[in-house]
Amino acid sequence: MEKKELKFNSKTIHGGQQPDKAYGAVMPPIYQTSTYAQSTPGGHQGFEYSRSGNPTRTALENALASIENGRYGLAFASGLSAMDAVIKLLEPGDEVVSTNDLYGGSYRLFRQVFEKYGITFHFTAMQDVESVEGKINDKTKLLWVETPTNPMMNVIDIAAMAALAKKHGLLLAVDNTFATPYLQRPLEMGADIVMHSATKYLGGHSDVVVGALVVNDKELAEKLYFIQNASGAVCGPMDSFLTLRGIKTLHVRMQRHCENGEAIANYLRNHPKIEKVYWPGFEDHPNHEIAKSQMNGFGGMISFVPKGGTFKEAVNIVEKLRVFTLAESLGGVESLAGHPASMTHASIPKTEREKSGVVDALIRLSVGIEDIDDLIADLEQAIGR
Ligand SMILES: *Cc1c(COP(=O)(O)O)cnc(C)c1O
Repeated sequence: MEKKELKFNSKTIHGGQQPDKAYGAVMPPIYQTSTYAQSTPGGHQGFEYSRSGNPTRTALENALASIENGRYGLAFASGLSAMDAVIKLLEPGDEVVSTNDLYGGSYRLFRQVFEKYGITFHFTAMQDVESVEGKINDKTKLLWVETPTNPMMNVIDIAAMAALAKKHGLLLAVDNTFATPYLQRPLEMGADIVMHSATKYLGGHSDVVVGALVVNDKELAEKLYFIQNASGAVCGPMDSFLTLRGIKTLHVRMQRHCENGEAIANYLRNHPKIEKVYWPGFEDHPNHEIAKSQMNGFGGMISFVPKGGTFKEAVNIVEKLRVFTLAESLGGVESLAGHPASMTHASIPKTEREKSGVVDALIRLSVGIEDIDDLIADLEQAIGR
């Protein structure tokens, strides 16, 4: 059977993988080398220098392409360096439309790094398709979508964005970090580029910082590969190996993240001291219908606001948590809690932040795969009754 025909839960394990050519190692070896012997100048076996290519990284890149159901994968030193490569496709004068509750680091990269090179970024609530079209002009080249959004859990209609991109001749890139290809595959819905912070769910164990891009178009893949090699923010062999190892259990981890996420979303929603819970699985979530149609589940990311919520109240709760660790990041097997206003989103001005709902009292949970009873007991002791 062609490995291409495998179902998702097998692709995570076998996708793009073959036993190593040298000794038949079933797991891809960690080729911890910068360079490769040549028999005659130019006479190499496919690898010359590890910025340009490394067999462990190639194994990861093939796996990434396979699980996103795309043709070409590229692995970077971080999620942000993967984004950086995408924006380097643009020229001074070009414009980008993106969502207004973007991951803080993405916002910082756009505004504080690329604006000074003459690229303009517009931000709007992309769940409102018309507002996106209103920001498009003849200089627009790229739509940058993140869905579900971080930390407000808005869901953006990927197929509608793909239709807009097609109508106006734009590239559509989707940050698929929160959903992972287990829950949603943007290329199948018409996106041109899928991006990941593989640091999160793909790696899954909070032990690497890695980024990824997956595309279908050969010319686009070649341009991105050129930038990857020319700028050099590549994923190293050890991190490639660890990310590959993480991907092998992506489907079982995600299944449990979704189950635990649902239980905690419902627990918080029924808690008398909680004002508001943001989770796309609720039937009254404003984008629930889109979430249901484009995702195979709702994930383990939840944000909530305690009643009468102040900065201090939120800080109190996150400091009392014992099973949840207070930390940035998300998507690992362990549960994490974060306070976006002072942590992940501190680089976004308060007025901008609050416009999209990131209030001082907002708490974000990355629900892990521990026993659900322990997670709920931990929240109960921290929030009180
Ligand atoms: C973490 C994250 C990034 C940045 O990725 P790094 O691996 O930290 O560089 C981008 N987008 C989202 C949604 C993220 O959560």
